[in-house]
Amino acid sequence: MEIKKAREELYALQKKLAAYEHAMGSIYYDGATTAPKGTAENRSVSLSILSEEVYRYSTSKETVELLEYLDANKAELSEKEQRMVYLLLKDIRNMQKIPMDEYVKYQELVVIADDVWHKAKEASDFEMFCPYLEQLFETNKKFALYIEPDKDPYDHLLSDYEEGMTKEILDEFFRKLRDGIVPLLKAISEKEQIDDSMVKGFFPEGKQEEFSYYLMELIGLDLDHVGLSTTEHPFTTSLGSHLDERITTHYHEDDFTSSMYSVIHEGGHALYDTGSADDLAFTVLDGGVSMGIHESQSRFYENIIGRSREFCGYVFGKVKEVFPEEMQGKTAEDFYRAVNKAQPSLIRTEADELTYSLHVMIRYELEKRVIAGELEVKDLPKEWNRLYKEYLGVDVPDDKHGVLQDSHWASGLIGYFPSYALGNAYGAQFLAKMKESVDFEGDLKEGKLENINKWNRENIWQHGSLYTPAQILERVLKAPFDAQYYIDYLTDKFTEIYKL
Ligand code: ZN
Repeated sequence: MEIKKAREELYALQKKLAAYEHAMGSIYYDGATTAPKGTAENRSVSLSILSEEVYRYSTSKETVELLEYLDANKAELSEKEQRMVYLLLKDIRNMQKIPMDEYVKYQELVVIADDVWHKAKEASDFEMFCPYLEQLFETNKKFALYIEPDKDPYDHLLSDYEEGMTKEILDEFFRKLRDGIVPLLKAISEKEQIDDSMVKGFFPEGKQEEFSYYLMELIGLDLDHVGLSTTEHPFTTSLGSHLDERITTHYHEDDFTSSMYSVIHEGGHALYDTGSADDLAFTVLDGGVSMGIHESQSRFYENIIGRSREFCGYVFGKVKEVFPEEMQGKTAEDFYRAVNKAQPSLIRTEADELTYSLHVMIRYELEKRVIAGELEVKDLPKEWNRLYKEYLGVDVPDDKHGVLQDSHWASGLIGYFPSYALGNAYGAQFLAKMKESVDFEGDLKEGKLENINKWNRENIWQHGSLYTPAQILERVLKAPFDAQYYIDYLTDKFTEIYKL
């Protein structure tokens, strides 16, 4: 084989994989957005056929020979091509360790489990979902052991979302967060609570939608390439390549800030994805590298930008325009304080910036113990409720507001939750670095995100998956990752707001 021809085939191979992903992503997106209730089985059939095709194509003799040839001749490849070959081969070698029938069965399980989870959540009936969740945990653990038999299966799952992550690192990380956050929360609980009634009331969906598009443009999304829809749980997905990005939100008519921050959060994911260099489209390097770095971007826009005094001050002008009656007599400072009210609560996605990581910590503890065989799936609700009492001091009234609230486990995402907390912490350290060259507060005061986006694009977005999370942190920060930046950020912010 000639190297020139092999390189061409490398791009053709990735384009074809992107097309399969486009089809499967569209089916999933349809299921989450507009598909009628009784259609899950249809999608399950199509998805299992398509995933079988991907499996066959990816692991075929021709594909493996091509990639092995390129790997053997990597000196003649560019840095990007070397990483493509590495990632593709890693994926294929992992896939080959999982028997095809089990792989296909798992794809079907995920679709059905997600459907059952919706129904179980609606009925607040954990027992209905329990057998599926058991299978999801079991299969994830089994696949982890197929792929890396000598590694702790939970470490393998963590590393799937954040290359190189381990229980050991996370145990220490969460301990640090808990020691920083719990005393702050305690001090706040002894202070007078913030009145956030201005963001509660009746905010019609149509008006909120208008506000969503305003926010998307304000943070710098290109609406020709980024679409918005509504789902039970907001999410972001790329269809085919970063040139077609979709975000979703959920409108609560009694509180417009819920959707507002979902749009900014998902918008942060979409900025990261769509910021990939154009030559990465239709390759495996397209889009973000890991869930932790992804969450560092989404939560950076949601909280560090979106809940800053300067951004709130700027956006409040639009809030008054969209909801004039409700905002009568209110100031930008009132708005800033209302969206930064810190109060232990039941629902992770609605949690404030300060308590958020404690919600994540609970899920981390639970998954870790289930995978280790120390906790049975059927006992999850009981343990969930106990930890919510212990860490957040709240009583969980039912499973709908407890263990059934998140869609992640139902989609087979086990080992994913810690990336939210890691993202928070990465973001705070990125901010400190960004401030060395960007007038962060000054720009936000004027609603200008060009310089901030440019910094993120140059340092993070454009590289797609070219570098590992650790390499990105090292390249950008030129210092080791340190959770202390995040704890300092929270301490400064909430000490000022609550006059601690
Ligand atoms: Zn996110």
